[in-house]
Amino acid sequence: MSGTVLITGCNRGLGLEFTYQYARDGWRVHACVRDLVHAEELLALEARFPEQVHLHTLDITRDGQITALDRVLGDETLDLLINNAGYYGPKGVCFGKVERELWRQVLETNTLSPLMLTQALYPRIATSKLKTVAFLSSKVGSISDNQSGGGYYYRSSKTALNQVVKSLSIDLSGAGIKVIALHPGWVQTDMGGPQALISAEESVTAMRGLLGQLTREQSGTFLNYDGTVIDW
Ligand code: NDP
Repeated sequence: MSGTVLITGCNRGLGLEFTYQYARDGWRVHACVRDLVHAEELLALEARFPEQVHLHTLDITRDGQITALDRVLGDETLDLLINNAGYYGPKGVCFGKVERELWRQVLETNTLSPLMLTQALYPRIATSKLKTVAFLSSKVGSISDNQSGGGYYYRSSKTALNQVVKSLSIDLSGAGIKVIALHPGWVQTDMGGPQALISAEESVTAMRGLLGQLTREQSGTFLNYDGTVIDW
Protein backbone atom coordinates (compact mmCIF):
# COMPACT_ATOMS: atom_id res chain seq x y z
CA MET A 1 0.00 0.00 0.00
CA SER A 2 1.24 3.49 -0.76
CA GLY A 3 -0.20 6.96 -1.02
CA THR A 4 0.59 10.56 -0.18
CA VAL A 5 1.60 11.63 3.30
CA LEU A 6 2.37 15.02 4.81
CA ILE A 7 4.53 15.06 7.93
CA THR A 8 5.58 17.96 10.18
CA GLY A 9 8.90 18.31 12.00
CA CYS A 10 10.90 16.16 9.57
CA ASN A 11 14.47 17.34 10.16
CA ARG A 12 15.16 15.02 13.10
CA GLY A 13 13.79 12.37 15.42
CA LEU A 14 10.54 10.61 14.57
CA GLY A 15 9.69 12.97 11.72
CA LEU A 16 12.93 12.16 9.91
CA GLU A 17 12.35 8.42 10.39
CA PHE A 18 8.74 8.65 9.17
CA THR A 19 10.02 10.48 6.09
CA TYR A 20 12.66 7.84 5.41
CA GLN A 21 10.38 4.84 5.85
CA TYR A 22 7.49 6.18 3.77
CA ALA A 23 9.85 7.31 0.99
CA ARG A 24 11.65 3.96 1.01
CA ASP A 25 8.30 2.22 0.61
CA GLY A 26 7.32 4.31 -2.39
CA TRP A 27 5.00 6.87 -0.80
CA ARG A 28 4.88 10.44 -1.99
CA VAL A 29 6.10 12.36 1.06
CA HIS A 30 5.53 16.04 1.75
CA ALA A 31 8.13 16.57 4.45
CA CYS A 32 7.76 19.84 6.36
CA VAL A 33 10.56 21.47 8.30
CA ARG A 34 11.01 24.74 10.14
CA ASP A 35 14.56 25.46 8.98
CA LEU A 36 15.26 23.82 5.63
CA VAL A 37 18.78 25.24 5.27
CA HIS A 38 20.10 23.37 8.30
CA ALA A 39 18.14 20.15 7.72
CA GLU A 40 21.15 18.18 6.42
CA GLU A 41 19.79 14.68 7.02
CA LEU A 42 16.46 15.55 5.44
CA LEU A 43 18.16 17.12 2.43
CA ALA A 44 20.16 13.90 2.07
CA LEU A 45 16.87 11.94 2.04
CA GLU A 46 15.53 14.24 -0.67
CA ALA A 47 18.66 13.56 -2.73
CA ARG A 48 18.31 9.81 -2.16
CA PHE A 49 14.58 9.66 -2.98
CA PRO A 50 14.03 12.58 -5.38
CA GLU A 51 10.78 11.14 -6.76
CA GLN A 52 9.28 10.57 -3.33
CA VAL A 53 10.43 13.37 -1.02
CA HIS A 54 9.14 16.92 -1.45
CA LEU A 55 10.36 19.46 1.06
CA HIS A 56 8.43 22.41 2.46
CA THR A 57 9.28 25.12 4.95
CA LEU A 58 6.73 25.11 7.75
CA ASP A 59 6.80 26.52 11.23
CA ILE A 60 3.47 25.12 12.37
CA THR A 61 2.83 28.10 14.63
CA ARG A 62 2.80 30.50 11.65
CA ASP A 63 -0.58 30.81 9.97
CA GLY A 64 1.01 32.53 6.96
CA GLN A 65 3.27 29.53 6.38
CA ILE A 66 0.32 27.13 6.67
CA THR A 67 -1.52 29.15 4.02
CA ALA A 68 1.56 29.21 1.78
CA LEU A 69 2.00 25.44 2.12
CA ASP A 70 -1.64 24.87 1.22
CA ARG A 71 -1.18 27.01 -1.90
CA VAL A 72 1.98 25.16 -2.97
CA LEU A 73 0.23 21.79 -2.63
CA GLY A 74 -2.03 22.71 -5.54
CA ASP A 75 -4.63 20.02 -6.20
CA GLU A 76 -2.79 17.33 -4.23
CA THR A 77 -4.83 15.03 -2.00
CA LEU A 78 -3.40 13.71 1.27
CA ASP A 79 -4.06 10.13 2.32
CA LEU A 80 -2.32 10.67 5.61
CA LEU A 81 -1.43 13.71 7.70
CA ILE A 82 1.04 13.09 10.52
CA ASN A 83 1.09 15.92 13.03
CA ASN A 84 4.46 14.99 14.44
CA ALA A 85 6.22 18.27 15.36
CA GLY A 86 6.33 18.84 19.08
CA TYR A 87 8.08 20.84 21.77
CA TYR A 88 8.73 19.80 25.37
CA GLY A 89 9.68 23.26 26.60
CA PRO A 90 12.11 23.87 29.45
CA LYS A 91 12.65 20.71 31.51
CA GLY A 92 12.32 20.35 35.29
CA VAL A 93 9.94 23.26 35.79
CA CYS A 94 8.27 22.59 39.13
CA PHE A 95 5.30 24.24 40.82
CA GLY A 96 6.25 27.79 41.79
CA LYS A 97 8.46 28.20 38.69
CA VAL A 98 5.82 28.05 35.99
CA GLU A 99 6.02 30.96 33.53
CA ARG A 100 3.04 32.05 31.47
CA GLU A 101 4.89 32.82 28.23
CA LEU A 102 6.89 29.57 28.22
CA TRP A 103 3.70 27.58 28.81
CA ARG A 104 2.00 29.47 26.02
CA GLN A 105 4.77 28.48 23.57
CA VAL A 106 4.36 24.78 24.35
CA LEU A 107 0.57 24.95 24.00
CA GLU A 108 0.94 26.88 20.75
CA THR A 109 3.17 24.17 19.26
CA ASN A 110 1.60 21.00 20.64
CA THR A 111 -2.08 21.84 20.85
CA LEU A 112 -3.19 24.81 18.78
CA SER A 113 -1.00 24.38 15.71
CA PRO A 114 -1.77 20.73 14.86
CA LEU A 115 -5.46 21.57 14.80
CA MET A 116 -4.93 24.71 12.71
CA LEU A 117 -2.89 22.73 10.18
CA THR A 118 -5.46 19.94 10.06
CA GLN A 119 -8.22 22.48 9.56
CA ALA A 120 -6.35 24.05 6.65
CA LEU A 121 -5.55 20.73 4.95
CA TYR A 122 -8.86 19.03 5.69
CA PRO A 123 -10.33 19.21 2.13
CA ARG A 124 -7.27 17.35 0.79
CA ILE A 125 -7.71 14.58 3.36
CA ALA A 126 -11.47 14.31 2.84
CA THR A 127 -10.99 13.64 -0.87
CA SER A 128 -8.18 11.09 -0.46
CA LYS A 129 -8.35 7.31 -0.40
CA LEU A 130 -7.11 6.54 3.12
CA LYS A 131 -8.43 9.63 4.93
CA THR A 132 -6.29 9.41 8.08
CA VAL A 133 -4.97 12.05 10.48
CA ALA A 134 -2.48 11.05 13.16
CA PHE A 135 -1.37 13.19 16.08
CA LEU A 136 1.79 12.42 18.02
CA SER A 137 0.58 12.70 21.57
CA SER A 138 2.29 11.35 24.68
CA LYS A 139 1.44 9.01 27.50
CA VAL A 140 2.37 11.78 29.92
CA GLY A 141 -0.72 13.57 28.61
CA SER A 142 -2.86 10.80 30.09
CA ILE A 143 -4.51 12.10 33.27
CA SER A 144 -5.10 8.59 34.60
CA ASP A 145 -1.39 7.78 34.11
CA ASN A 146 -0.13 10.82 36.02
CA GLN A 147 1.47 9.48 39.20
CA SER A 148 4.35 11.91 39.55
CA GLY A 149 2.98 15.42 38.99
CA GLY A 150 4.97 18.26 37.43
CA GLY A 151 5.55 18.59 33.70
CA TYR A 152 2.92 21.32 33.59
CA TYR A 153 3.68 22.68 30.14
CA TYR A 154 4.09 19.47 28.18
CA ARG A 155 1.57 17.32 30.02
CA SER A 156 -1.21 19.87 29.70
CA SER A 157 -0.44 20.49 26.02
CA LYS A 158 -0.77 16.79 25.17
CA THR A 159 -3.84 16.31 27.38
CA ALA A 160 -5.53 19.14 25.51
CA LEU A 161 -4.34 17.67 22.21
CA ASN A 162 -6.07 14.41 23.16
CA GLN A 163 -9.34 16.28 23.59
CA VAL A 164 -8.80 17.86 20.15
CA VAL A 165 -8.32 14.38 18.70
CA LYS A 166 -11.53 13.12 20.28
CA SER A 167 -13.62 16.02 18.99
CA LEU A 168 -12.09 15.81 15.53
CA SER A 169 -12.81 12.09 15.34
CA ILE A 170 -16.47 12.84 15.97
CA ASP A 171 -16.67 15.91 13.74
CA LEU A 172 -14.90 14.26 10.78
CA SER A 173 -16.47 10.81 11.00
CA GLY A 174 -19.20 11.84 8.56
CA ALA A 175 -16.50 12.54 5.98
CA GLY A 176 -15.03 9.09 6.64
CA ILE A 177 -11.85 10.52 8.17
CA LYS A 178 -10.08 8.50 10.88
CA VAL A 179 -8.32 10.47 13.59
CA ILE A 180 -5.91 8.96 16.07
CA ALA A 181 -3.68 9.99 19.00
CA LEU A 182 -0.45 7.97 19.12
CA HIS A 183 2.08 7.52 21.90
CA PRO A 184 5.35 6.61 20.13
CA GLY A 185 6.90 4.97 23.18
CA TRP A 186 9.89 6.41 24.99
CA VAL A 187 12.09 6.94 21.96
CA GLN A 188 15.80 7.74 21.50
CA THR A 189 15.53 11.19 19.95
CA ASP A 190 16.59 14.65 21.08
CA MET A 191 13.36 14.82 23.06
CA GLY A 192 13.44 11.29 24.46
CA GLY A 193 17.17 11.35 25.25
CA PRO A 194 19.76 8.55 25.01
CA GLN A 195 18.30 6.53 27.93
CA ALA A 196 15.02 6.02 26.10
CA LEU A 197 13.84 2.47 25.61
CA ILE A 198 13.37 2.14 21.86
CA SER A 199 14.85 3.46 18.62
CA ALA A 200 13.06 5.78 16.22
CA GLU A 201 13.17 2.96 13.68
CA GLU A 202 11.31 0.58 16.00
CA SER A 203 8.75 3.18 17.02
CA VAL A 204 7.99 4.39 13.51
CA THR A 205 7.84 0.86 12.08
CA ALA A 206 5.23 -0.04 14.70
CA MET A 207 3.21 3.18 14.28
CA ARG A 208 3.17 2.78 10.50
CA GLY A 209 1.83 -0.72 11.00
CA LEU A 210 -1.00 0.67 13.12
CA LEU A 211 -1.78 3.46 10.66
CA GLY A 212 -1.88 1.01 7.77
CA GLN A 213 -4.58 -1.08 9.45
CA LEU A 214 -6.53 1.60 11.28
CA THR A 215 -10.25 0.89 11.46
CA ARG A 216 -13.18 3.30 11.76
CA GLU A 217 -13.77 1.84 15.25
CA GLN A 218 -10.27 2.86 16.36
CA SER A 219 -10.79 6.46 15.32
CA GLY A 220 -10.91 8.74 18.37
CA THR A 221 -8.74 6.49 20.53
CA PHE A 222 -5.33 6.94 22.14
CA LEU A 223 -2.98 4.14 21.10
CA ASN A 224 0.44 3.12 22.27
CA TYR A 225 2.88 2.33 19.44
CA ASP A 226 2.36 -1.37 20.14
CA GLY A 227 -1.37 -1.05 19.48
CA THR A 228 -2.61 -1.20 23.06
CA VAL A 229 -5.19 1.40 24.12
CA ILE A 230 -4.02 4.06 26.59
CA ASP A 231 -6.60 5.38 29.04
CA TRP A 232 -7.21 9.11 28.72
P1 NDP B 1 12.41 15.92 18.68
O1 NDP B 1 12.55 16.94 19.76
O2 NDP B 1 13.52 15.01 18.39
O3 NDP B 1 11.95 16.65 17.33
C1 NDP B 1 10.90 17.58 17.37
C2 NDP B 1 10.61 18.03 15.97
O4 NDP B 1 9.52 18.98 16.02
C3 NDP B 1 11.79 18.74 15.31
O5 NDP B 1 11.80 18.43 13.94
C4 NDP B 1 11.43 20.20 15.51
O6 NDP B 1 12.02 21.09 14.59
C5 NDP B 1 9.94 20.14 15.30
N1 NDP B 1 9.26 21.35 15.76
C6 NDP B 1 9.20 21.86 16.99
N2 NDP B 1 8.52 23.02 16.99
C7 NDP B 1 8.13 23.23 15.70
C8 NDP B 1 7.41 24.24 15.04
N3 NDP B 1 6.92 25.30 15.69
N4 NDP B 1 7.18 24.12 13.72
C9 NDP B 1 7.66 23.06 13.03
N5 NDP B 1 8.37 22.08 13.59
C10 NDP B 1 8.61 22.17 14.91
O7 NDP B 1 11.09 15.09 19.08
P2 NDP B 1 10.65 13.59 18.72
O8 NDP B 1 11.00 13.29 17.33
O9 NDP B 1 11.11 12.70 19.81
O10 NDP B 1 9.08 13.72 18.91
C11 NDP B 1 8.15 13.76 17.84
C12 NDP B 1 6.76 13.79 18.45
O11 NDP B 1 6.59 12.67 19.32
C13 NDP B 1 6.51 15.03 19.31
O12 NDP B 1 5.19 15.49 19.12
C14 NDP B 1 6.69 14.52 20.73
O13 NDP B 1 5.96 15.27 21.67
C15 NDP B 1 6.17 13.09 20.62
N6 NDP B 1 6.68 12.19 21.63
C16 NDP B 1 8.01 11.82 21.68
C17 NDP B 1 8.46 10.95 22.67
C18 NDP B 1 9.87 10.49 22.75
O14 NDP B 1 10.20 9.70 23.65
N7 NDP B 1 10.77 10.92 21.87
C19 NDP B 1 7.53 10.40 23.68
C20 NDP B 1 6.18 10.84 23.54
C21 NDP B 1 5.78 11.69 22.55
P3 NDP B 1 13.31 22.02 14.99
O15 NDP B 1 14.51 21.16 14.81
O16 NDP B 1 13.21 23.15 14.02
O17 NDP B 1 13.12 22.42 16.41
